[in-house]
Amino acid sequence: MPPTDRDGAMPGTNLAQTRALNRRAVFDAIRRNGPITRMELANEIGLTVQAISNIASELEVAGLIRQQGKRVGQRGQPAVELSLDPTGGYTIGLDLAYRRLSGVLVDLTGTVIVSEAHDLVDREPHVIAKALGALSNKLLEKSGITRDKVWGIGCSVPGTVENGTFWYDKVQEADEWTKFPLAATLEETTGVRAFVENDATVAAIGERLYGIGRVARNFFYLHFNLGVGGGLVMDGHHYRGAFGGAGEIGHMIVKPGGRLCPCGSRGCLEQYVSFYSAAETVCGPTRTPDEVPIEELVAYCRANDARLLAWQQEAGQYLRIAIRNVEAMFDPDTIVIGGGLPSELLDGIIAAANPLLPTMTHRHSSSHPRLMRAEHAAELPALGAAALPIAIVMQPSSSSASWRATTSNNSMPTNAALTALGIDSALS
Ligand SMILES: [Zn+2]
Repeated sequence: MPPTDRDGAMPGTNLAQTRALNRRAVFDAIRRNGPITRMELANEIGLTVQAISNIASELEVAGLIRQQGKRVGQRGQPAVELSLDPTGGYTIGLDLAYRRLSGVLVDLTGTVIVSEAHDLVDREPHVIAKALGALSNKLLEKSGITRDKVWGIGCSVPGTVENGTFWYDKVQEADEWTKFPLAATLEETTGVRAFVENDATVAAIGERLYGIGRVARNFFYLHFNLGVGGGLVMDGHHYRGAFGGAGEIGHMIVKPGGRLCPCGSRGCLEQYVSFYSAAETVCGPTRTPDEVPIEELVAYCRANDARLLAWQQEAGQYLRIAIRNVEAMFDPDTIVIGGGLPSELLDGIIAAANPLLPTMTHRHSSSHPRLMRAEHAAELPALGAAALPIAIVMQPSSSSASWRATTSNNSMPTNAALTALGIDSALS
């Protein structure tokens, strides 16, 4: 007889999958809205109160949620309120930025338990991958959290990622990063499941879990760093595209025949709207744009430097085109603007982009403006990366198979909380 779950459903069958999906839905609703009563959950998810009670008991046994208190002031028996148990699991978030590595270990609510950061000196991929692994091990050691309580590592990188393999943005970096197996290297160094994702998608995921995603289910995250990228959240889930390149808005053509971009096309958005393009206006003949410190650009901006004012005006015009194109494609609740560009620079571009171009939709039922600034702290991108393993568990398509370690010689510890959510993390 094949093994069955506690309700008699064979793992992998439709029934078992439906149960896993329902548990994830209840867990996610408690995560977003807790403290919340069973009745409110039933209304939110569309299951019966009895079904919610059964699922809540299972999640409580798995240590994912807990009874917080009782709702008073209502008729009848006071209703028990459910909330996330912060100690039900932990994740590690790593951010590989242009000049810096940073990492956090957080609990299920995204509260930072320990953090570490250091400047990036050596740019050799194997050295960086080892440093990221060592950073993770240090976070584990400092926090005293054991590996069996850790759901996974999320790592944010400035480039596209296919099957855990990192293709560094060819615009910025050398060939040695091409096809670098970063997730597998992290797993070998740490013994923890690792997920690698493009930085703009990670920023969108952070916003989905901890920011605007609590109230908006469809948004496009416009992510400014050295360049500009985009992350897409559709119907409450992040969308990667077939090859991990969905939302790569930096290479959307906004000016046919315009400036040549290292990607090979002309007139890409990034050539007009990015830190890189702003720095180009002030770097002079002796420096490349990425050698211009952010502080220098901010100082010019505060001094109303004519070159930067002109850049903001031009950038704003191209940003309006990009915003209109994104709306035409995805019809989002809102477009979220965030990332590492200083607000001194960003404010001027957004002002120049207004008034926005007319939309085809009336947005009568919208409670959000067309453009919003990110809520989630951009100064801590590793926190978004820490949200990545949780977001991946919540994807409807997630399964034990999709959670399987990318490296074959590394068996991950069993995690009871993940098993309760329908993912057997010990499979390898
Ligand atoms: Zn391009």
